[in-house]
Amino acid sequence: MPSDTSPTLSAHDEGNALDRRGLMLILSSPSGAGKTTISRMLLERDPHIRNSVSCTTRAPRPGEVDGRDYHFVGQDQFDRMAEDGEFLEWAHVFGKSYGTPKAQVKAGLKAGQDYIFDIDWQGTQQLYQKLERDVVRIFLLPPSIEELRRRLTGRGTDSAEVIAARMERARSEISHWDGYDYVVVNDDIDACFAKVKQILASERLRRARQTGLIGFVRGLMEPDDELG
Ligand code: 5GP
Repeated sequence: MPSDTSPTLSAHDEGNALDRRGLMLILSSPSGAGKTTISRMLLERDPHIRNSVSCTTRAPRPGEVDGRDYHFVGQDQFDRMAEDGEFLEWAHVFGKSYGTPKAQVKAGLKAGQDYIFDIDWQGTQQLYQKLERDVVRIFLLPPSIEELRRRLTGRGTDSAEVIAARMERARSEISHWDGYDYVVVNDDIDACFAKVKQILASERLRRARQTGLIGFVRGLMEPDDELG
């Protein structure tokens, strides 16, 4: 039995406790590979991770909520924010501007908050250059080109040209897969989710993130009075 003065770590549950620096989990994929579903599952089931809400100049889609899905801003406001250094990263994607606001994420990481980022390969590179130690990069792939085409064909109402353009865009995004730490093929959503969760659990246990353990480990290394 530990004596009262023995080091204990009651709040330490598999790296989830807020005794460590937060991490930035980046999920990228071509559209149609399940990124949105995996993000949603993580956010619903893991209380320790939060969505990083980006700014965008594109218009809201039906069902999207300002401040939850994106901060929808005008181009002038976006450009001003970029100029004032308010973004951790930003990029032009499909003709619109997208960026990650700096303030919330930086403070959150310090406080041990994990964030999930649904950003493209350009933003991933920028975040990695700035905050390498906090970044975990996962790329999701579709199980086959046929399945990707099926997912991008939608409800059968789009023209062959529109579908061909989506396929081209997907191929171009896939070409950036080598800029990621982990690659998961999404042939089954539950299996894919389980793999993403495994990655997250391991990354939370990295020694370098567990800054709060320093005092605890020092205590473990102190000479044992009882034997002395
Ligand atoms: P959508 O308009 O379909 O929501 O997103 C289009 C693309 O923009 C997706 O590939 C998404 O990952 C990317 N994206 C969304 N937010 C950001 C952001 O803040 N920065 C960057 N670089 N890409 C983003």
